[in-house]
Amino acid sequence: MVKQRTIKNIIKITGIGLHTGRKINMILKPLSENSGIIYRRVDLVPPVDFVININTICDNTLCTCLIDSNNTRIFTIEHLHATLSGLGIDNILVEVDAPEIPIMDGSAYCFIYLILKVGICELNAHKKFFRIKKSIHIQEYDKWAELLPFNGFKLSFFIDFNHPIINFNRQYYCLNFSTTSFIKNISSARTFGFTKDIKYLHKHGLALGGSINCAIIIDNNKILNKDGLRFNNEFVRHKLLDAIGDLFLYGHNIIGEFNAFKAGHALNNKLLRTMISNPDNWELVTFNNDQESPIKFSIPSEYYLKDNNFS
Ligand SMILES: [Zn+2]
Repeated sequence: MVKQRTIKNIIKITGIGLHTGRKINMILKPLSENSGIIYRRVDLVPPVDFVININTICDNTLCTCLIDSNNTRIFTIEHLHATLSGLGIDNILVEVDAPEIPIMDGSAYCFIYLILKVGICELNAHKKFFRIKKSIHIQEYDKWAELLPFNGFKLSFFIDFNHPIINFNRQYYCLNFSTTSFIKNISSARTFGFTKDIKYLHKHGLALGGSINCAIIIDNNKILNKDGLRFNNEFVRHKLLDAIGDLFLYGHNIIGEFNAFKAGHALNNKLLRTMISNPDNWELVTFNNDQESPIKFSIPSEYYLKDNNFS
């Protein structure tokens, strides 16, 4: 059968928070089958667990966050969540001593690297997938996002920022999980920001950790990062990374097709909420053998990283 997964051992990670700019300690812990993905803030007394459901997913302009009934939040979960989606990890406890997940280098690569170092293990329970049964299309002004029935997992993304640096590069990327490596092609694509926006955010006490160490920073007509881009279309690849994280918020990999134009976290989250809100749109499915599954999740080892020097 296609089995649920967790990590083989505890992983300790230290990084900087994008919003607070402070040092954050995070510990990833294995969980047993059917436990799901749990985020826990251990900086609060008593610690607060975040259960993901239609009422707890929240977004702001910069990230995806979770909110509980007491208005307590945990921010910037999307890159770690994209990592869990890409590696097919269904059960894990994420403990942080801050209101946000560390931003690392602005991509999912550090999380992928550390998880592959300790390894992934299978659990003795069926992995549950969301299979999309009906097309769902969400539009806001010129932005749109949609989910369609498809026997696999395929994503296409278009961006249009009306900026010479971004428009110079290709603005479209398509990823089919069966034929293209998420780890190699998407996981190291970094988030990006514009100097004018960062100055404004800093003035208002936001994005205090934002710098060239955790994002591609773009001026009016140039990239400020000394080493430039990791891919000529790194911007749209990162938008796809965000979407992969957002679409996994309920903890089940999707069997379907996602297409989007200029969508951000808010639209991705609205699409997922719309999908979930009508049980006619989806069904939970399991597979008794690997050949039946339209999505092949291999278990890459740390040796995979040595063959793919892309960081
Ligand atoms: Zn992002």
